[in-house]
Amino acid sequence: MTPPLLAIALAGLGLIAGSFIGLVSLRLPQERGVIFGRSHCGGCDRALPPQRMVPVLSYIFARGRCRDCGSTIPIRYPLIELACAGVGVWAGLSQPDLPSAAFTALLGWQLILIAVVDAEHFWLPDALTLPLLASGLVAAAVLPTGSVLHSAIGAVAGFLGLWLLAFAYRRLRKRDGLGGGDPIFLAAGGAWVAWIGLPSVLLWASVAALSLVAGRLVLGRRVSGQDRLPFGPFLALGIWLTWLFGPLGL
Ligand SMILES: [Zn+2]
Repeated sequence: MTPPLLAIALAGLGLIAGSFIGLVSLRLPQERGVIFGRSHCGGCDRALPPQRMVPVLSYIFARGRCRDCGSTIPIRYPLIELACAGVGVWAGLSQPDLPSAAFTALLGWQLILIAVVDAEHFWLPDALTLPLLASGLVAAAVLPTGSVLHSAIGAVAGFLGLWLLAFAYRRLRKRDGLGGGDPIFLAAGGAWVAWIGLPSVLLWASVAALSLVAGRLVLGRRVSGQDRLPFGPFLALGIWLTWLFGPLGL
């Protein structure tokens, strides 16, 4: 498949993945249990017919409102769908072959799901980070550029690195500086980018997080040491960029 065709196919799949991710990220934190059940309007709870579940388009045609009760449909749904389509295009255009593009898209979609849940709930569930870890090991085994050994070392090093950091912070500051799920998330990242990519992941994540804090300061918002910032979205960005562009400076 030529890169443009691959990009179009993965963009289409991305819209579907995004629509699913929008649901999972809503239902998982509510512990409704039913991840695969029918979609309902958040306002009137009426079941949505298939023509109102078309990614992005349904939102545009309904002008962001439920046709039954008029309640606003959260913009997060079309945004997540578009982001997943964007990841599909990026994967299709940046990778040399179908298997690498497919794994790249799979990585990006999982990262979006994890980043959304952490951003909205300060929570990195094992139910999402462990499959990310497993799929990273599978990618290392399947793709010719991968090495299961380096990937497994990356997982262990990623976990220990953040776990030790969290432990030291707790000792020094007497409060948690990192969420409990961060070490497993970085372990999953290590499985994808291998141990050699871990410093780059942390560097990208820290630069992104610091830029956001700097941006807030520039905009005149107050920033204090007590502020909570979910680190997951930044780690997700770091894993994504390191996967695409490789370890920095090497
Ligand atoms: Zn409604």
